[in-house]
Amino acid sequence: MNHIAIVGGGACGVAVFVDLFHQIGLSGKPAAFTIHWFEEDKTFGKGLAFGTDQPGHILNTQAELMGIFPEEPDHFTQWLQDKGGKANQAVKGEGDLEERYTSRNFYGAYLREQMELYLSNAEKLGLKVIQYQQRVEKIDLEAGKYHISTNEGKTACPVDKVILAVGTPKPNKFRELRSNEQYIDFPWPSERILRKHKEHAEIGILGCSLSAIDTVITLLDNDFAGQIYLFSPDGLMPKVQPVENKNIERKYLTLSNLNRWKRERTQPIPVKLLFRWFIQELEAITGNPVGADSLNRIGVPAYQLLERDIEWAENGEDPVVNLAYSLRYEASAIWDALSVNEKTKFKKWFGPHWAINRHGMPLHNAYKLKQAFDEGQLKVVPFFENLDQIEGKAGFVLKTADDAVYEVGLLINATGSPGALNQMENPLISHLLEKKLIKSHPVGGAVVNPRTMQLLSPAGGNGIFAVGHLVNGMLMDVNAVWFNVKTVRNLTQEILFRILDGNND
Ligand SMILES: Cc1cc2nc3c(=O)[nH]c(=O)nc-3n(C[C@H](O)[C@H](O)[C@H](O)COP(=O)(O)OP(=O)(O)OC[C@H]3O[C@@H](n4cnc5c(N)ncnc54)[C@H](O)[C@@H]3O)c2cc1C
Repeated sequence: MNHIAIVGGGACGVAVFVDLFHQIGLSGKPAAFTIHWFEEDKTFGKGLAFGTDQPGHILNTQAELMGIFPEEPDHFTQWLQDKGGKANQAVKGEGDLEERYTSRNFYGAYLREQMELYLSNAEKLGLKVIQYQQRVEKIDLEAGKYHISTNEGKTACPVDKVILAVGTPKPNKFRELRSNEQYIDFPWPSERILRKHKEHAEIGILGCSLSAIDTVITLLDNDFAGQIYLFSPDGLMPKVQPVENKNIERKYLTLSNLNRWKRERTQPIPVKLLFRWFIQELEAITGNPVGADSLNRIGVPAYQLLERDIEWAENGEDPVVNLAYSLRYEASAIWDALSVNEKTKFKKWFGPHWAINRHGMPLHNAYKLKQAFDEGQLKVVPFFENLDQIEGKAGFVLKTADDAVYEVGLLINATGSPGALNQMENPLISHLLEKKLIKSHPVGGAVVNPRTMQLLSPAGGNGIFAVGHLVNGMLMDVNAVWFNVKTVRNLTQEILFRILDGNND
């Protein structure tokens, strides 16, 4: 019997399970496999992203990219069509159905429906699947087998392969604030915010990316009438996604130019060259010279930028956003072509600017934020430098580099998930690091073979695989279902190939 363990029952865990079913089914040997599936939450098929109870928390990706099966990104749109299409209350936005967004918990319902369908298909096929509602705390390699220990003790049988789909753990920054009841260390689940928000006139949110916007939506949708501040060193809010992505014919920043450049010089690509090509593309799109400084938005008031971004999104006219989206399917190959040094430089020099263009907010949310700005309820505070707890009373003082001082009663950490493994709050990851069954990558996440998704480490053997945020350094788009689903296919085919010694074609 071949035992395969999946740790994590979020979107990636479901994608791994349904594709393992697919590959094992194709092998014609279902009886030779047992899948052991672990999820610490009481419900499989939710995860952090799609387990929210807030109907106002919507997808950040259009429906056409949310299918859970490889090669079928539009499967979710078809499912939506069967659920009433545009008329369904959970569907938000404008344009064709595939260009719209749903509430994230409705996407969670899609995940669970696929999971249930394939659990019953597995039973019919004779593929044994055991689900454990338990937190995996340790994995140890002994005599070529992986022994799993959970919060309920050691599991009965060791396994041959382990797939880590543990998602996006919360940051372990500002730990010193955790004893303060008015500090919330992660925006999800929302009920922790909603137990307190109405007690305060000023609420501070650390961060101003998509996680922070989610937190603002939680407050606005639950009748918070006080002042909301977003604190961040650069004050850069995500741009706004156009309803329809304009197709851009690129001339400079292309995979063939990239390959020619490398072939002629046998050197890794310098990130400065990518930036030069990016600017040349923009100049070709706009027909005007583009100065690097003109792309820098740091210090420009966020509400002002949002107004322009909404206009651009409504007309699909933002050349930088259109260019970033046109690179969607090639970005990971370009990222792969960069050395560790150049990846580190990219993150330092361009990381925040790339993120706000590549991971924009839906127009639906942009309108909500604009109204809050217009009513004076929302303020983005750039150049945030430090914070202190107020002596003898609940609350926090936050200071900026330009000497502005703010006092808030409630503080929410929405700085998003950390990139480095040792910054991630997950006992299993800490155990694997300590036992050298996982190795940190200098750019972030774990060292992985990007073609097979097998983790490479001093003591992990060759049976641990990973998908999603855990490999955020070596792979670029791990915060997108469409990308993770593609990597899942590499992983499941590799596992079956190994187990069946290549007799799985
Ligand atoms: C708020 C938010 C919104 C997002 N919106 C989108 C979007 O609209 N579109 C998109 O494509 N991507 C979105 N993402 C990115 C998302 O992270 C990825 O799409 C990812 O695929 C999510 O699935 P996951 O399974 O990796 O992670 P998660 O959803 O975090 O699931 C991981 C699961 O593993 C479980 N787990 C973790 N450790 C253990 C353990 N030791 N033992 C047992 N169980 C464990 C957790 O309980 C959790 O259920 C969003 C992310 C966040 C945080």
